[in-house]
Amino acid sequence: MHASLPEPLAGLGALATNLRWTWHPPTRDLFASIDDVLFRRLKDPLRMLTTVAPERLEELAADADFLDRTRAATEDLQRYLTEPRWYQRRAAGEEYGRLPEAVAYFSMEYGVTEALPNYSGGLGVLAADHLKAASDLGVSMIGVGPLYRAGYFRQSLSLDGWQVEHYPVIDPSGLPLELLTEPDGEPVLVGVAMPGGRDLRAQIWMARVGRIPLLLLDTDVDGNDEDLRRVTDRLYGGDADHRIRQEILAGIGGVRAVRRYCALTGHPRPEVFHTNEGHAGFLGLERMREILAADGLEFDEALSAVRAGTVFTTHTPVSAGIDRFPADLVHRYFGDGRLLPGVDVRRVLGLGAEDNPGMFNMAHMGLRLAQRANGVSKLHGRVSRRIFARLWPGFDDDEVPISSVTNGVHGPTWVAREMTALLGGNDEEWGHDGAPSARDRVTDQQLWDLRRDLRSKLVAEVRRRVREAWLQRGASALELGWTTSVFDPDVLTVGFARRVPTYKRLTLMLRDPDRLRALLLDDDRPIQVVVAGKSHPADEGGKQLIQQIVRFVDDPAVRHRIVFLPDYDMAMARYLYRGCDVWLNNPTRPLEACGTSGMKSALNGGLNLSIRDGWWDECYDGSNGWAIPTADGVTDPLLRDDLEAAALYELLGQQVAPLFYDRGPDGVPEGWMSMVWHTLETLGPRVQASRMVREYVESYYLPAATMVEAAIRDGYAGARDLARYRTRLHPHWRKVRVFDTELLVDSPDSLVVGKEVQVRARIDLAGLEPSDVEVQAVVGRVGDVDELEDPVTVPMTPTEIGEFRGSVVLPRAGALGYTVRVLPRHGLLASPAELGKVVLP
Ligand SMILES: *Cc1c(COP(=O)(O)O)cnc(C)c1O
Repeated sequence: MHASLPEPLAGLGALATNLRWTWHPPTRDLFASIDDVLFRRLKDPLRMLTTVAPERLEELAADADFLDRTRAATEDLQRYLTEPRWYQRRAAGEEYGRLPEAVAYFSMEYGVTEALPNYSGGLGVLAADHLKAASDLGVSMIGVGPLYRAGYFRQSLSLDGWQVEHYPVIDPSGLPLELLTEPDGEPVLVGVAMPGGRDLRAQIWMARVGRIPLLLLDTDVDGNDEDLRRVTDRLYGGDADHRIRQEILAGIGGVRAVRRYCALTGHPRPEVFHTNEGHAGFLGLERMREILAADGLEFDEALSAVRAGTVFTTHTPVSAGIDRFPADLVHRYFGDGRLLPGVDVRRVLGLGAEDNPGMFNMAHMGLRLAQRANGVSKLHGRVSRRIFARLWPGFDDDEVPISSVTNGVHGPTWVAREMTALLGGNDEEWGHDGAPSARDRVTDQQLWDLRRDLRSKLVAEVRRRVREAWLQRGASALELGWTTSVFDPDVLTVGFARRVPTYKRLTLMLRDPDRLRALLLDDDRPIQVVVAGKSHPADEGGKQLIQQIVRFVDDPAVRHRIVFLPDYDMAMARYLYRGCDVWLNNPTRPLEACGTSGMKSALNGGLNLSIRDGWWDECYDGSNGWAIPTADGVTDPLLRDDLEAAALYELLGQQVAPLFYDRGPDGVPEGWMSMVWHTLETLGPRVQASRMVREYVESYYLPAATMVEAAIRDGYAGARDLARYRTRLHPHWRKVRVFDTELLVDSPDSLVVGKEVQVRARIDLAGLEPSDVEVQAVVGRVGDVDELEDPVTVPMTPTEIGEFRGSVVLPRAGALGYTVRVLPRHGLLASPAELGKVVLP
């Protein structure tokens, strides 16, 4: 415990150190009631307890009402932490399959709360939302990642609008973290070997994210050489050498931390490992080492077992964005055999192999170490299947075994409590199933008033931040009178806030400055725009974009209608998601893997105005917001920007603003409100992280756990058998032949839809057994290219020696084509494409 509390207040310690307070307003209220002003400044229960005057705590220790409330909150937390929830009910249910005892979730960053600034953007916030939703659902999970000494950088602006970074150094002992200790009280240390006979050690800080322990590795410990102490200095900083050390620590050290944690606490051992983006992929190699050391298996046998229990999520829609290392560098760390004894470095290099033999590709390794892989929206799934298709040669893109789980956001974290209060439902219901339909209980007027209230709060926050930013840029208070009238609580408010990589096109709205000015300053239907975002410190181009925006908004003619707020983080984000009427997103399609900020806006009744990219591509339905038409196929990027910007102005001026300002006699915009209701009701449930986590549980964790069990039972019999099967397949496979394929029909004109026809083929299995293979007939429409469109696949069975038959119900009319193919078959393969082997006629 960080603070010494009077005994009757001991419960406050547990409440302050469990980060559930970040999504549980009643807990925050309790702390605010200690000292409202102080809490509004600190926003962190733990710092509250260490800062508040001891006399105040003594006073509260004698305050019966406060003690009652503390007891109630403590009991509520205890119940939340221990009661059976969805996962426990699901595990006890009748449905097929076995849920894992535990899942280990690895990510390089976590954005749980601004009080723990261990993230740089959407990926980290998503990872934290994953843990929070898993906690609400009762999923047995352990989170793992590094703890950075310099957290998320703080952004300010120079007078001429250039981004300036500050790295506040964090002191873990002042954060809601507990140092993991051995029974003798010494800190737990995990080590990973470094080249040259050195060792890198890390201590482990644990954050409690509701029910989920989040283990954060910290190399700033005595005993590490000076350069090694700095391995976890900051997120995504430094050169390739620095990054590979961080990733070795996160992956290999991370597994070691999980093992030690489970041994010390009795937490169930994870059976499934979820790699959130390629950076943490070395975790699979450490699990290889464990199996090779303990169980006397061959590399390929161990690989089968590890793959069965690994899930890999890719977040990158462009090859250039993939994490890669020079192969030499990987050799330097893994080559002397100290880091992973018993794991052959040549095999390691093979797992990360790509077209360029000099490079090691973390995404390729992630895919080769994981039996199940996914992108983060339907569109991103398709893009990923295309990007990685070369790993499964012989298969069309749509058969590449990478599927998708669309991201979601943690409702209780992001939804304004006023909104939850109005729409009803307790936090947990809201978190699981979105807004319970409140339309018959709550009037348009009530919801509109609430939206105005949230907009007003944003306006106040904007004014405060604009003033602060100008003071920081060197203005004097005397010049800043105008900041009190920046923005208007009754003007249509558009938000745009996110990181500033080029593809997100921060400055698209500036494409035609006059048109933007006209929209901002329209007499009858003005709009106001709030912009925020940080550029990666090394990205000069991003900083130039920020500067362009800042120069535009500095103009006294528009500065009351458009602002750039420096230092975007989770705290600012909450105001924006809640208060903006329209959430704008205009990436270059399809470079946004998912995007989640628009989901947070939607949960608060904001309407999305977005390019159909990421999640919006699948969720836009024509009446829940607007889709900015994309100039797909236009290859000149400037022309494309012009076209898409023009479409954006057109939508804002002709559709969005008119609908917002079209008021009934009561002042309520009826058409607007019906879109808001529709958004809350239909998008509400879909964009929840609880929906996402349930999908991972049902479609990834559960089958993975089932497969792990089959692989490791009876001394890894299944894993050994699969490895043997692969070895056996290898010499035969190239000789397997398909010939004499035939479609058996009475007459060509009997080819009518719905008619059943036979496909026959002779197959030379070259010594393999019929049970070793899956033979399929594929029937589809003959397209322009040499491919079958909308193919239907049916299994074929052996009839007599060498012949296979299958019957197909003709799916459609038109020119039909068919083919027959042979694929590997084994009970421990998750998909027939898994081994990337196929034989066609
Ligand atoms: C949700 C969130 C993001 C992600 O936004 P995108 O829409 O994915 O760009 C980034 N930063 C913060 C602070 C967030 O809360």
